[in-house]
Amino acid sequence: MLDLAIIGGGAAGFFAAINAKRKHPNLKVEIFEKSKTVLGKVRISGGGRCNVTHACFDNRLLVSYYPRGNKELLSVFERFNTKDTVKWFESRGIVLKSEADGRIFPITDNSETIVNCFLDECDELKIPIKTLRSVKSIEKNGVFQLNINDEIVEARQVLVATGSSDAFWQILKGLGHKIIEPVPSLFTFNIENDFIAELMGLSVPKASVKLLLDKSQLKESRLSQSDLTQSGPLLITHWGLSGPAILKLSSIAARMLNQLQYRFEISVSLSNLKVEDTLDFLLKIKAEHPKKQVVNTPLFNIPQRWWQRIHSLTFVNTFNTWSDASKKDLLKFAENLSGFQLEVDGKSTFKDEFVTAGGVDLKEVDFKTMQSKIIPGLYFAGEVLNIDALTGGFNFQAAWSEAWVISDNL
Ligand SMILES: Cc1cc2nc3c(=O)[nH]c(=O)nc-3n(C[C@H](O)[C@H](O)[C@H](O)COP(=O)(O)OP(=O)(O)OC[C@H]3O[C@@H](n4cnc5c(N)ncnc54)[C@H](O)[C@@H]3O)c2cc1C
Repeated sequence: MLDLAIIGGGAAGFFAAINAKRKHPNLKVEIFEKSKTVLGKVRISGGGRCNVTHACFDNRLLVSYYPRGNKELLSVFERFNTKDTVKWFESRGIVLKSEADGRIFPITDNSETIVNCFLDECDELKIPIKTLRSVKSIEKNGVFQLNINDEIVEARQVLVATGSSDAFWQILKGLGHKIIEPVPSLFTFNIENDFIAELMGLSVPKASVKLLLDKSQLKESRLSQSDLTQSGPLLITHWGLSGPAILKLSSIAARMLNQLQYRFEISVSLSNLKVEDTLDFLLKIKAEHPKKQVVNTPLFNIPQRWWQRIHSLTFVNTFNTWSDASKKDLLKFAENLSGFQLEVDGKSTFKDEFVTAGGVDLKEVDFKTMQSKIIPGLYFAGEVLNIDALTGGFNFQAAWSEAWVISDNL
């Protein structure tokens, strides 16, 4: 009989197996993976470079990157956080580097470095990795009985690290767990109109994007006013809007956007100011530079192309000087600069990177051990849980930390 059967040979499953065996060498641990190969997502992660974690070393700040799971993860990060991840890999001879935006990668820029590290560790610790083994069901009659390729494997404890497998969520439902309906997170917004088409390729270092919801939608979404507006770099692509500001909004509002079937309105601000403040500034410029042409005086670090498009949509005559512009014109201009409204119709995947929001209801998990509150001895780690984060290495960090906590408590 196994002491720990790990279902899923992905990030969470491997990290749990290795640390469990290091801490408790006498435990009989095995990994069961349904595919031919293991660590598939680790291989393709971070564009093939594997963004293992993020250079955010303050746990309270770290949890703010998790739209779902932030409360629960705090105690988990207190036991194993981003600093520990860096130490863990470095103690195995992997040199990591941190990029300007905080993402941490192996210095080789190659995810195989991480995959090989895990495979070497399993080899050294003699952890059997059983591929082409799909777990079809779990029963508990004193011990766990797993139906794997129609054979029964017995285990004292089981870790479910099956990622976003719908089939496995159904199995967990059958065991009495509540599964929060999975919806996609981390996607870009499709917008089909001339404004976007003409600005294709434009990239802005700081913009704010606001999701426009009516009162009843806002109530239903359970989002706060501050959730609705996200800021950061923005990119105009040939299909719509992308960049960190958009990805953040897609993640935070993942569930609501799914309900809206990805048809909704946003307003984009490149002035990053309220309408009143933008207007005050425009009036000041009008007083100081009355003879200059508005179209040639981009302000607030707004790129010339965006400024010109907003200008031509606001003013009939594109050659107005500041003195020609009435206060009413400037108010309309300020409104468009502080919040240009666009209709989103659909979503696209961001660089093939996506995560699923949804999974095992966190209320049913004891985060001191990562154990099911319904079935003792059953553990969860990784994307199977209703936890997900923004891009930047946070999703792997959650998987590493949860797996570490499990390995502590066996
Ligand atoms: C393209 C892409 C790039 C990404 N890049 C990054 C990144 O750079 N940094 C980051 O932090 N996050 C990244 N992510 C997210 C990250 O990959 C996931 O959060 C992470 O892999 C989750 O780990 P996991 O172990 O829970 O699931 P997975 O890695 O998906 O592993 C689950 C495993 O379980 C197996 N399995 C499922 N059902 C069964 C069954 N019944 N029996 C046996 N085995 C089963 C699956 O085949 C799979 O191998 C990326 C995601 C994608 C799609």
